[in-house]
Amino acid sequence: MDDCLFCKIARGDIPSRKVYEDDAIFAFHDINPARPTHLLVIPKKHIVSLATASAADTPVLGRMLAVANRLATENGSPDGFRVIINTGRIGHQEVQHLHAHIVGGPDPVGPMLKRV
Ligand code: 5GP
Ligand code: ZN
Repeated sequence: MDDCLFCKIARGDIPSRKVYEDDAIFAFHDINPARPTHLLVIPKKHIVSLATASAADTPVLGRMLAVANRLATENGSPDGFRVIINTGRIGHQEVQHLHAHIVGGPDPVGPMLKRV
């Protein structure tokens, strides 16, 4: 996708603080970290969200999760982390290219969600 922010980051057209790359995925520091460790893992292929991913995307989805522990450990969160994939309007997804947040740091990230 020519006009997608995260496609541009994956291509290197927009700079990012890359932490990992292979043929299918790209990972980098979030520009506005919510915790000391805050990485984003994205497929290089433009997939809008988990709501539009297809069965053919299963390998890349698995790979995004499979690298999470290594990336968290290498980037300041060796004792666990949280993966968040905001999806669609209800999930408050702001960037329309599928991404997994990996958040953590030396201290626990806190309870999952505030009850409403
Ligand atoms: P969402 O709300 O869509 O799940 O999360 C989007 C995330 O992308 C936010 O945490 C935001 O800080 C991050 N982000 C937005 N624009 C950029 C950018 O240009 N570079 C980087 N590294 N992160 C970005
Ligand atoms: Zn994209």
